[in-house]
Amino acid sequence: MTKRALITGVTGQDGAYLSQFLLNKGYEVYGLVRRSSTADVNDVRLRWLGIADDIHFVDGNLRDLSGLIRTLRDVKPDEVYNLGAQSFVKSSWQQPILTGEVTALGVTNILEAIRLECPHTRFYQASSSEMYGLIQEEMQSETTPFYPRSPYAVAKLYGHWLTVNYRESYGMHASSGILFNHESPLRGIEFVTRKVTDGVARIKLGLRGELRLGNIDAKRDWGHSRDYVEAMWLMVQQDTADDYVVATGRTTTVRDMCRIAFEHAGVSMNNHLVIDPNLFRPAEVDVLLGNPHKAETKLGWRATTTLEEMIVEMVDADLKRLTR
Ligand code: NDP
Ligand code: GDP
Repeated sequence: MTKRALITGVTGQDGAYLSQFLLNKGYEVYGLVRRSSTADVNDVRLRWLGIADDIHFVDGNLRDLSGLIRTLRDVKPDEVYNLGAQSFVKSSWQQPILTGEVTALGVTNILEAIRLECPHTRFYQASSSEMYGLIQEEMQSETTPFYPRSPYAVAKLYGHWLTVNYRESYGMHASSGILFNHESPLRGIEFVTRKVTDGVARIKLGLRGELRLGNIDAKRDWGHSRDYVEAMWLMVQQDTADDYVVATGRTTTVRDMCRIAFEHAGVSMNNHLVIDPNLFRPAEVDVLLGNPHKAETKLGWRATTTLEEMIVEMVDADLKRLTR
């Protein structure tokens, strides 16, 4: 029997890689898309992977419960992956209410739609390492206390606990993946890795003179989105739903990540990197370092792409994109 998956956030970075992964496994993939003033679906990433025509698009919005109920009734998916969110930490200070409505209450809407229409559907929630915020333990695991440091992180914590609550209250197969930062050539340009690889490529091609960044002392545990979507799928395949940290177990400063990009392009970092105080955040998460032990032992999952390999892939993709 062909399995059917519904992905919210299908047009985003993870939505694209997860769609590709599921299509390769023979799934029928349905993607929830927000309509805009043009009839076109924002399918740039799906086109980049050559899979846009293989997805069944359904109109919907995580803020609209009635639409989600209708979608669940029509599609009757075996699995739902809730990746949709206002996902940019810095924007969450500018749009805290919207962030709460989509990233937090959106989880209630999709879980309610599943509970009412197809309670046996398996559910994955895209939780975030940002929930750890002000770090309580050097290496963060499933048992580390949370201390969110942005409206985004607070909203994600709500979604995380709601997922746990629906599992415990209604016996739903609902898992929460606490994913540390993961990137790729499909990462949004506003996130630091992609901003760096795009900026370095522009400098290399003589299209720009400098790269402006904020706090380059911050440390992140960066992996590749292509690796991480497999962990999402593995969680949903387990007999029992649970929560898992997905990370590489290595942390690097923004400065050192930048250095990899500049060195690969053969451009001087000292001559082109400018620190801009306007790019610092009202509250910072200084360091994130995940402990993937549970995912490794219970799911048999492991991050395979190194930071160096990923940044090189991203710089090359940006050079190609800009040259074209
Ligand atoms: P993206 O920002 O690339 O994608 C977000 C997606 O959410 C887009 O498809 C967007 O659609 C959709 N979306 C936004 N608002 C709504 C709404 N109101 N209703 C329905 N869909 C909406 O994120 P990523 O792919 O990088 O991340 C996937 C998920 O994982 C997100 O929830 C993110 O917060 C979480 N996460 C990501 C991490 C990372 O490092 N990448 C780390 C931990 C968690 P549109 O195209 O219309 O804008
Ligand atoms: P986040 O961990 O989800 O907030 O992912 P980001 O990629 O947006 O940011 C990672 C880290 O890079 C944070 O500590 C930021 O403060 C830091 N950073 C430094 N300069 C910049 C910048 O210009 N843009 C972004 N997005 N982050 C920056």
